[in-house]
Formats: sequence, structure tokens, C-alpha cells
Amino acid sequence: MTKERIWLSSPHMGGREQHYINSAFQTNWIAPLGPNVQGFESDLENYLANESHVAALASGTSAIHLALILLGVGRGDEVLCQSLTFSASANPISYLGAQPIFVDSEESSWNISPELLENAIIDRLSQGKKPKAIIAVHLYGMPCDVLALNRISSKYKIPIIEDSAEALGSEYLGMRCGSLGDFSILSFNGNKIITTSGGGALVCRDQEAKKKAVFLATQARDEAPHYQHSQIGYNYRMSNVVAGIGRGQMEVLDDRVEARRRNYEYYKSRLSGLPGISFLDEPKGVKSNRWLTCILLDSYETREKIRLELEAHNIESRPIWKPMHLQPVFQCYPSYVNGVSEDLFNRGLCLPSGSNLTDEDLIITSGLIRKSIIR
Ligand SMILES: *Cc1c(COP(=O)(O)O)cnc(C)c1O
Repeated sequence: MTKERIWLSSPHMGGREQHYINSAFQTNWIAPLGPNVQGFESDLENYLANESHVAALASGTSAIHLALILLGVGRGDEVLCQSLTFSASANPISYLGAQPIFVDSEESSWNISPELLENAIIDRLSQGKKPKAIIAVHLYGMPCDVLALNRISSKYKIPIIEDSAEALGSEYLGMRCGSLGDFSILSFNGNKIITTSGGGALVCRDQEAKKKAVFLATQARDEAPHYQHSQIGYNYRMSNVVAGIGRGQMEVLDDRVEARRRNYEYYKSRLSGLPGISFLDEPKGVKSNRWLTCILLDSYETREKIRLELEAHNIESRPIWKPMHLQPVFQCYPSYVNGVSEDLFNRGLCLPSGSNLTDEDLIITSGLIRKSIIR
């Protein structure tokens, strides 16, 4: 029996974060601007490459909200969204009075199915409504089928918001996730691969879009000596103190990716081959940061048995995200489904996956799973 709880994904500081926080205090930059904000943004821009212009924000959710605004989404518009995701991918659609249209997953990546997405677009067009944007997610760090989605996006001229909240450090054909959409978003929430305690970023493809994002994120002040506003603004900028944590975390991002990938390899080596268990391999040309290691069991009952057994030993695990089209708050909206996400929700389990897990944590956790399956 373990005494300390083994968490799904807990913050893992590198050591240099306090150096940057201290410099914010010493220079009195305790504000939603300052050298750490600029430093963190340029760290991210250098890391992502691909003409990335980064606006550091208060959260990933606020980044999606601003991306939708910058794409002109407003009341009554339709936005296509991956159904299998965290609710934050979809909530900002509703903030704007727009309507989410949910699209189910493909089995190979668990992300939005390009085939179903195209069907959905054709169907919406036939009803006389052209969706304004597509929100595609790299779930649990596994990249979605970017090439197929880009083809659809160009064919129908509908821009893509790449929800890379879980996928900083993942790659698609050698390009970094977070740099692959018309807009991309990142999250630095406490459980993500790197964290600023809370925070996010909007990644834009040009400097002009970033300027607009920062303008909206800082209450949309016109240029005037007094406070003047011609548009509704938001208070969404990241603070200079928090950005200091981000700068420290960027120094260890590569290590964090390696550690999470090692967790996956360890679980896979201990558990694959047991009856009824499977893992999600990387499709060709893709590198996952393995933010969370997920397993699929043969049934809902086995999944629950394992989850409860781990919980009894003070180990946190969690079912796969419940699809948005099945959520009480979203089930009234149109959806294009094939059953894949519902099946993943029923049979899937996320295992403790933090970069700070000890060898012993991994041995105990995988030992308990082995026992529950064999027994
Ligand atoms: C965490 C997360 C978000 C939101 O990020 P916050 O920083 O928590 O607002 C959005 N999408 C996905 C898929 C996430 O996992």
C-alpha cells in the first residue's frame, strides 16, 4: 500500500523557475507585461518555428476564445469541433453565441475523423450554412491527421484552430504541434506537460494577428491619451510573474517529453500482451509527447475494476474524456458520430503519467493493473 498519492499528472518544476520569478520581483514587473512575458513568448516562438507568433495568455481556454473572435465567429455561426476532447475546446464557441457541431474520432489517432469531418461540412453546406472554423485536437499528445485535415480546410476554405493544449513537444512529419493551424493554442495548466500553474498561449501565423490578439487580451484600448474603446475587450494576458515559471519550464521541456515517453514504454512493456488490453501506437511520421499514457480494456467493467483497484491503493487514474456530443450541456447540438469516441470513453483509462513519477510508482501501478487483469 502506497502512502503518498500517485497522481495522474502533477506539476514538475525544473529548478530555474524561481530565478525568473525573482527577477520579476527585483525589477517590480508584477504586471501582465514585462521581460518574462516577452522572454517566454520568444522561447515558444523559437521552439515552435514555422512562422509562429505567440501571445502569452491567462489560459488555453482564453486562447481558443480569441482565436474564434479573430476568425470572425459570432452569434449564430457554426463551428466544427472534435467531440472527444476536454470541454474547454468547445466552451468558447458558446461564449460567442455560436453553435458547436461535433465530429467523432478516427481509430488511428483518436482525434477528429477527416472522413466524418468532410461529411459534416457537406451536410452543413447542403443546409445552407458554412461552418466558420474547425477545432482539431491532439488528444493526450497524439497528433491528429494534420495533412488530411489541411486538405479539407483548403478545399472548403474553413480555417483550423489547432488545439495543442495537450501536445507541446509532439511532432507531425517533423513539424511541431502548436505550429500547424491557422491559429494554434497551448495550455500551461497545472496538469499539462509544462505548467505555469495556470496559463496558455495563442499561436498566430503572422505578427499582425498577434498584435490583434494582444489588443483584445488587454481590454481593447484604442490609441489615445485617455482610456477609449471601440470594441469589447478581455483581460486575458499572462502576468510577468507567471511567465517566469514558463521560462524555467521551457528549459526542461525536452526532458519532460522524454520522461513521459519512457512512462509509456514502461507500461507497454509490462502490460501489452495481457488479454484484452491495448495501447495506441504512433501512426507513421508522428511523435507523441505521451502527455498521458492511455490503455484500452476489453469492456467498461474491466476498465472500472482497474480504476477502482488503483483508487483503493491511492493511485489516480481517469476514464478517457467523455465525448462532447454525450455531455448534458452539449447534447442538444448537431453531431456526426461513428461510435468510436463513445467506445473509447467506455473502455479507456488514463494512467499516472507525470514526468516526476518514480520507478517505484510505475512498478506499483503496472503491478496492480496486471493483477486485476489476470485475476
Ligand atoms: C487543458 C485543455 C484546454 C484548456 O486549457 P486551460 O489552460 O486549462 O484553459 C483546452 N483543450 C484541451 C484539449 C485541454 O486539455
